[in-house]
Amino acid sequence: MSDTTYYVHPMAEVSPDAQVGAGTRIWRHAHVREHAVLGESCNIGKGVYVDTHVQIGSRVKIQNNASLFDGLTVEDGVFIGPHVCFTNDTAPRAITADGKLKSTDDWQITPTLVQYGASIGAGSVILCGVTIGPFALVGAGSVVTRDVPPHGLVFGNPAHLQGYVCHNAHRLTNIQDSEGKPFMLAHKDRVSEASSKGSASDLNSKLVGWCPICKQTCQIGG
Ligand SMILES: [Zn+2]
Repeated sequence: MSDTTYYVHPMAEVSPDAQVGAGTRIWRHAHVREHAVLGESCNIGKGVYVDTHVQIGSRVKIQNNASLFDGLTVEDGVFIGPHVCFTNDTAPRAITADGKLKSTDDWQITPTLVQYGASIGAGSVILCGVTIGPFALVGAGSVVTRDVPPHGLVFGNPAHLQGYVCHNAHRLTNIQDSEGKPFMLAHKDRVSEASSKGSASDLNSKLVGWCPICKQTCQIGG
């Protein structure tokens, strides 16, 4: 372990081959595997599983019993709610076509990225291969199957874009494009299309919204 200024509960298990940054706290029954990297000042809740090679930035909060598997990268300032589950295999099988138990050589990890400041609500499942954009908000119980744009609010199963949120996760109103025209959200097809081409952030790169709680405009582009 790279640093001794972090806290590990006596009933947590942190591999000596993991890296943990200063000020990070790892609570009871959490398990941090070898070659996982945790940044500074993170809070890793009870029963959290951090698989091998998972990369976690600084000031990340991971609530109880979340499961983070190999292939996942979490940037700084991300919130992961309780019981959130990330996946890492698009073609999961226990056995090969001829019935033998698969080994680690028999399958390929699909990476997933959660970007700066994003939040993922309790009990959500994140399918692998997606990117959740900066300051996006995933509603509780969602199943995320495609990219989420910056500041995007998604929920449901499968999760659809339902709006946009400010830096404080308040829902924005009066979304306008770069020409000041109202931006209607009746564009699920557009979002699907953009996301499938990996250009979800292009879709709203110049949108601006109004937060009625913060009482200020919010740039929601990437
Ligand atoms: Zn706000």
